[in-house]
Amino acid sequence: MNEFNLDAICADISVSTGSPFQMENHSSVAGGDINDAYRLEGQCGREFFLKLNRVGQLDMFTAEAEGLLALAQPKVIRVPTVICYGETNTHAYLVLENIQFSRGGASGEALLGEQLAHLHQFNSAGRGYGWHRDNTIGATPQLNDWTADWVAFLREQRFAYQLELAARNGLNKSARDKGQRLLDGLGLYFESYTPEASLLHGDLWSGNAGFDSDGQPVIYDPAVYYGDRETDMAMTELFGGFSADFYTAYEQVWPLDVGYTRRRDLYKLYHILNHFNLFGGGYASQSENIIDKLLIYLS
Ligand code: ADP
Repeated sequence: MNEFNLDAICADISVSTGSPFQMENHSSVAGGDINDAYRLEGQCGREFFLKLNRVGQLDMFTAEAEGLLALAQPKVIRVPTVICYGETNTHAYLVLENIQFSRGGASGEALLGEQLAHLHQFNSAGRGYGWHRDNTIGATPQLNDWTADWVAFLREQRFAYQLELAARNGLNKSARDKGQRLLDGLGLYFESYTPEASLLHGDLWSGNAGFDSDGQPVIYDPAVYYGDRETDMAMTELFGGFSADFYTAYEQVWPLDVGYTRRRDLYKLYHILNHFNLFGGGYASQSENIIDKLLIYLS
């Protein structure tokens, strides 16, 4: 751990909570991909969850805080409360309510599915697809300009951006060309389906959802925007971890369109391309394999 200016962060916590916070202990929390994370412990059992990144990354945390607030607003699923965020002379930081995680079991999984379906029923109220600001997916910029047409949004602000980045990161020409062919034919996946502009978590793999000590679902570390709810569902499948109870409960509230089975690879591709851009390696061939599969539908 690099030294970080805890005094400034504790002072901000004190101001934000209206109660002086004196830290007595801190411990590192594992599990994140992008940031360093710590649990801060103070007097009288007060605890906070701290995320740290380097100076210059405050905008990422501001977007994350705004995303958490957006997800909390409908009050259908628990989201950690944002305490404060800012920059010290050494780090950008985000402080959240500390959640005591536990196992959710089958009933928790079902509740998570049900609550996610209700979250998805909140929409952008006619503003189209996008959000009021850009954010990040992992550490990659994610564009969210409001767009009336989902296919245009998906093509330009999701795939074209990732493919361009992938080209700069060394994705081979054949994968890039095939990716372009996919983008040219993207509309074919949406001939009989126009998604609602649902409020999305945006990065819903199993590492970004859990259960509190009462077994209530909690979602965190989002990449919020308004878009096709199938994108969240595809992400839950990508790295596993969600049980059959989750999917059954989701579909009981709001069944998925039959065409989801065709589109889910498309939505997974976005995250696989992003993983290539973040981590490189085998994600290149995984991206190309998915594109090959998707092009069969277009041929
Ligand atoms: P990153 O942005 O680096 O991916 P995360 O936000 O996913 O980091 O957090 C890393 C880990 O910290 C999570 O996997 C989870 O176990 C834990 N965590 C996340 N948010 C909280 C919280 N509010 N309270 C307690 N633990 C948390």
